[in-house]
Amino acid sequence: MNPTPRRPRPVVLLAALAALSLAAGAAAQTAPATSIALSLDASQANQRILHVSSEISVAPGPLTLLYPKWIPGEHGPTGPLANFVDLHLSAGGKELSWERDPVEMYALRVTIPPGATRLSTRADFLFPGEGGNFSSGPGATDFLAVISWNTVALYPQGPAADAIRVTPTLRLPAGWSFATALVKQGEEGGAVRFAPVSLTTLIDSPVLTGANLIDLDLGEHDGARHHLSIAADRAADLAGAGSLSAPMTRLVEEALTLFGARHYSSYHWLLTLSDHVEHFGLEHHESSDDRVDEETLVREASKRSMPSLLAHEFVHSWNGKHRRPEGLLSPDYQRPMRGALLWVYEGLTEHLGLVLPARAGLWTPEYYREQVAAIAAGLDTETGRDWRPLGDTAVAAQILYGAPADGRARRRGTDFYEESIFLWLDVDTLLRERSQGRVTLDDFCRRFYGGANSGPSLVPYTREDVVKALNGLVPFDWQGVLAEHVDRVQPRLPMQGLERAGWRLIYSDQPNQAIADNESRRENHDWRFSLGFSVSKKDDVTEVLPDSPAGRAGMVAGEKVLGVGGHVYSARAVEAALAQSKGGKEPIEVVTADGDAIRVHRLDYHGGPRYPHLERIEGRPDVLAEILRARGK
Ligand SMILES: [Zn+2]
Repeated sequence: MNPTPRRPRPVVLLAALAALSLAAGAAAQTAPATSIALSLDASQANQRILHVSSEISVAPGPLTLLYPKWIPGEHGPTGPLANFVDLHLSAGGKELSWERDPVEMYALRVTIPPGATRLSTRADFLFPGEGGNFSSGPGATDFLAVISWNTVALYPQGPAADAIRVTPTLRLPAGWSFATALVKQGEEGGAVRFAPVSLTTLIDSPVLTGANLIDLDLGEHDGARHHLSIAADRAADLAGAGSLSAPMTRLVEEALTLFGARHYSSYHWLLTLSDHVEHFGLEHHESSDDRVDEETLVREASKRSMPSLLAHEFVHSWNGKHRRPEGLLSPDYQRPMRGALLWVYEGLTEHLGLVLPARAGLWTPEYYREQVAAIAAGLDTETGRDWRPLGDTAVAAQILYGAPADGRARRRGTDFYEESIFLWLDVDTLLRERSQGRVTLDDFCRRFYGGANSGPSLVPYTREDVVKALNGLVPFDWQGVLAEHVDRVQPRLPMQGLERAGWRLIYSDQPNQAIADNESRRENHDWRFSLGFSVSKKDDVTEVLPDSPAGRAGMVAGEKVLGVGGHVYSARAVEAALAQSKGGKEPIEVVTADGDAIRVHRLDYHGGPRYPHLERIEGRPDVLAEILRARGK
């Protein structure tokens, strides 16, 4: 069948969320519309301090103020409450005392005196110098800052964030410029005034600011402008940024072709190049906060890896922002999120985040395959696969994001990202097989995420909606296919989709380019697929696969490697030991320090260097090549 795209079912989300929120707080039924004038003074961002003040419309009587707890895209209660300090509340020029809810730390209680209609707040946010995940981690240096509005927002309990109107102003360090999806309306005493937005839109619209900031205008596509804005600690790290314009424009076109429509008024990648901020990507509806190594644009191995991050966050504008699992809605940033469908929200995004760079020519098909081989090998060697189904990594996301690297193979990580590549390859190849090639995953993307061009809009979905959409394309036991991948324990990585696409995972003595790029970026060494361990640039063992020569010899993560094969530890010493032991009988001796103890491990391994790759399955058509083929505009 060849279904015509249809518009997503209309949902009056604002009303639905307001109803939810009203159910939670009866007091809101009589409350007038809430407005907040929020003034952010970031002129000391280079000292890692933001000063915030606000005027909130209120009514006399008891009021609960909230600080955002559950941060969209972070899938956990990650609001950086500990660094929100020096809070003062006042009304009519008089300081008001407040108290914290004894159970819900993110809620503060205050009584608004008779006659007062405005509550004044002032506080500081301290950017952490270290620690913290995602937007709670380091976000400011001497030369740049990423301002996440959730770190400075206080708002009354009751109305949904969609119903709270905020007028933001922002003062920046002298000489710094900025980029954001917010619309600048003017200037006020040296501060930028943005057009009023809902609290939802404000928190969804970070600002990238810095002394060295450039903007690449990627042009208008489907009636919306696209920008890649880049800030760097050092201007020299921006060299060569211009060469991104053409391939990034192709990425925009490939994504628009895939989905058939966009749901943003304009789109802004906010790319930070710094070794002194947290590294991650965080999606927003009309922008993304993308933070990478400072040398990313001037170092080949880093530049090669970056496109998947930018593609991943862009795909989230459709998959995660326009359409979001019902469980991941948190209309007031307090309702706990439920991550059960993260294998769609993050998993399909991860899959498309690898496919689109190949379609856009940012990656060769060979490089895509090296990435997928490295991912497959990593997942297939996790011993935790025999107790934890993929679906539980999604449900437990809020625990697993912050889990230590140590023990990952037994625990499993946030595998709903990478393992879902194989789930969605299975779905894609099944759609193709059962429709004689007429229907593909692209059709699902158009049907589920497309429709008509629009500004930001949100249509929630359930697992049943996903199954229904697939059945609308090709009737099949999709419930069964998904259950097999998501709900059942799978001791080995299910790779039938990859194999149906004409490729299988193999190992050879040739280095894997994706692993080599990763080693070059992080200055670490990855011998997981031969000896069974990896080592950080400080010579610490970061991971030991339990079912591997190192695991069986008793090595554990955290040990420091001192020597290998009778030589002082170095990558060359390991390579020499691997070559020498190949086909022989003598174990490879690894000497480590573990706390106060010296340990000698004998690794019974004779296979030489071993790295994962994909290999064509003879006699099967190369469906993967078709999946990666440029669609063009
Ligand atoms: Zn993501």
